[in-house]
Order: sequence, then structure tokens, then C-alpha cells
Amino acid sequence: MIYLDHAATTPVAAQVLESMQPYFAGDFANASAIYEFGEKSRNVIAQARAIIAKSLRARPDEIYFTAGGSESDNWALKGTAEAYREYGRHVITTQIEHHAVLNTCRYLEQQGFEVTYLPVDEQGFVRLRQLEQAIRPDTILISVMFANNEIGTMEPIAQIGRIARRHGILFHTDAVQAYAQVPIDVGFYHIDLLSASGHKFYGPKGTGFLYIRDGVRTASFIHGGGQEQGKRAGTENVPGIAGIGTAARIAMHAMSERIYRETRLRDMLIHEITSRIPGAHLNGDRYARLPNNVNFSFEGIEGETLLLLLDAKDICASAASACSTGSAEPSHVLTAIGRKPELASGTLRMTLGEATTAEEIRLAADAVEENVKLLREVSEWKA
Ligand SMILES: *Cc1c(COP(=O)(O)O)cnc(C)c1O
Repeated sequence: MIYLDHAATTPVAAQVLESMQPYFAGDFANASAIYEFGEKSRNVIAQARAIIAKSLRARPDEIYFTAGGSESDNWALKGTAEAYREYGRHVITTQIEHHAVLNTCRYLEQQGFEVTYLPVDEQGFVRLRQLEQAIRPDTILISVMFANNEIGTMEPIAQIGRIARRHGILFHTDAVQAYAQVPIDVGFYHIDLLSASGHKFYGPKGTGFLYIRDGVRTASFIHGGGQEQGKRAGTENVPGIAGIGTAARIAMHAMSERIYRETRLRDMLIHEITSRIPGAHLNGDRYARLPNNVNFSFEGIEGETLLLLLDAKDICASAASACSTGSAEPSHVLTAIGRKPELASGTLRMTLGEATTAEEIRLAADAVEENVKLLREVSEWKA
């Protein structure tokens, strides 16, 4: 099998799995217990928090564990909206966010907030001038993703952070795709809140964290016990937290090597497809894109059919994002970058991972070329 859908999820790394094992049945104690048996659980949580804090150049008490990226996004938006509603009820985001952000914004609109959904340019970049123009005296939050999960475009986060800071507005970024793939320094980027998810970087599903800069107020997300500084109650997922901590540690050590490897393979795949297949349009920016993201729209084909043909050759890829499959609507991201519905429907996303090989890239390129040709014979498409 050739797995090219790492933006949807990644396998749990062997070392990660191993680091989780002790906390299921052996060292199973509740981390809040007074007795010494609870010490190991407390320690592993503290270690994971410290590793993640270091990876962002943040402080451990600024890291809050959650059950994944969607929860972190929900908490960041709802929690700050509630805490700052006396100051204003206007939020700025973009049209290309993940649905965890977009649908939370829709919810906030029902609660009396106003949301501006910024358009993006053809590469998927937020236009900084439009962002500044959208700022109002009652704007309390700007939420712009670090990198897009469909087309891989990396947003100008440093500039956005500076604009937010200059206007005294909170800045949240959904970094679920970027965290552990590219270096992030929350101070340098002026990030106030940052979401990440364990299963996107070889950690377990159902784990994640939210970075909340010291001094930023957020309403509690889950009411109950005193866990996570009283803001996210519930007995800690100790094995999961051990796992996401190990995954973060591995990613920090391996990052520059992974960026180098995956960028090379990504560029090889982009080159193979552009040079061999006419009517292939790369989605997202050619350079400011995630090291592992390849996304093309092909003229004259249906992406869904192409996926089935690739699946028959044991190649796992995706049409747009895992979240939009099953819906006939063209992806909101492709619409936002101006892809016409016919072209958008012929889209294929291939996202590479740490185990992807050059041989797999060659086989994938062959399979894509062959099957696009086949589908075009049926649709009688001409270059
Ligand atoms: C996957 C993803 C999420 C959701 O994360 P989960 O842990 O699956 O809830 C949010 N935002 C982006 C950009 C993603 O890629």
C-alpha cells in the first residue's frame, strides 16, 4: 500500500506507542491522586507539557491538553469570545479555515457575534491590506490558520501577528497541519492562541493541545475538576498525553531532516505531474507550502473516480480533505482560490509522510498519469 494521505491522519510511531503502554494498566493511577502511585502519571504529563512548551518557545503553564484539533479550535474561539465580549463582538477569520473554525464562527454568529470571513488570493494567501481594512474598534479576535490542510499554503503568520498586536487584538492560529512540520515560535509570531492535534504528527487520535499565552483570558471549556488549571476538567488522558509528548519530542529532533526529505519528494511529485500531464493545475503556492503537500486539479476528470482507480492500485489519497468527502459541494477552499466548479471537481490531494519513499512517488506519478489519461478518454477531453 502507498499511503499519501498524511494530512488526514498519520500512523502512531512505534516509539510513541511504546511510550504510551505503561499508562494503560501498569501505571494507571489518576494523576490527581495524593498517594505516590499517582506520581508517575503526574510526571509524564509534566514532561509532555514541558516538551511541547519548549517546541513553541512557550512556558509549560501556557499549554493545555485537549482531545484534539477540533476541540482546541472550539475552545480558542468560544473561550475568548465569551471572555472578551464586553470589549466587542467582532471576529475576523478567513474563508479557507478548517470547519472546526468555520462552524464555530457560525455558532458565534448565532450567539450575537459578527464574523468577517476574509477572501484569499489565487494562491490561498490572506491579503494583509484587506485584513487591516476589516479591523473595527469592536474586533476582539483574528483567527487565521498557519497552513491550509487542503492546498498546503502557509499564511504570512508573522505579519498577521504584528497587525493583531499593533491593534491590540487577540490572534489565534489553527496550526494543526503546521505544528511539528515547520518550526513555530509563538513569541516571534505574536501568537496568543495556537491549536494542534496529536494524530497529525504520529501521535494518537483524540489528543491535542491549545497554547494560551499567559495573560490571555479564556472561559473554561469543560467545567468540573481542577485539571488543566481548572479550565478543561476531566481525568487526564495519561497514555494519550504521554503519546503526544513523545510525538512532539521526535518531531522536534527530526524536523529539519524531515523538511529536507519531504520537500524533495514533494517537488519531485509536482515536477513529474506537471511535466507528464497536460491540463494539470497546482493548487496552493508553489513555494510557501507545507513540505508534504501536493494538490492538483486536472481538467476533464472527476477526482472521486480518480481516487477509486488509485485505490484499486492500493494508493490512498484524497479529493480535497477528509472532512468534505461524501458531499457533492466543491471544497470551500478551492472555491475561495477561484477554481471553477468543473476544475475543482477534478482535484487530487497527496500528502507525504516520514516513511514515503522516492519509489512510492514514482509509482504514484505513474498511476496518476495512467488513470488521468484513462478518464480523459472516457470524458473525451482534449488539451
Ligand atoms: C485535522 C484538522 C483539524 C481537526 O483536528 P482533529 O484532531 O481531527 O479534531 C483542525 N484543523 C486542521 C487544519 C486540520 O487539518
